[in-house]
Amino acid sequence: MEPQAARRNGKSVSMSEERGIAVFRAGNRTEGNFVAGLLSGEGIPVTTLPAGGSSNGEVELHVPAAHADAAQTIIRAYEKQMDQQAQSEEAWVCRRCGEENESSFDTCWNCQAEPGHA
Ligand SMILES: [Zn+2]
Repeated sequence: MEPQAARRNGKSVSMSEERGIAVFRAGNRTEGNFVAGLLSGEGIPVTTLPAGGSSNGEVELHVPAAHADAAQTIIRAYEKQMDQQAQSEEAWVCRRCGEENESSFDTCWNCQAEPGHA
């Protein structure tokens, strides 16, 4: 069951049975390790590989084909969570009264002014 060491030609991101299926690409190793932890926590064997060559810091997570569906479900939940978090962090400050508003607010909660940016 142990996959052979993957050949690294630095270009191919093809899905080979050997390496499993690439289910996630992380912008950095920290995020890659975090998501890998989520997957392995669910009992999914995950391999972290440098994506597109090792210089840009991106990593890809590969899982055996049999676990790809489960992995993608976990990753979608993770991404959704990240999206929501990112949105809630994008607060805007009212130009009129200076109060901070959540990104979901179309107008200032305090003075009903619209955000100053398009
Ligand atoms: Zn305001």
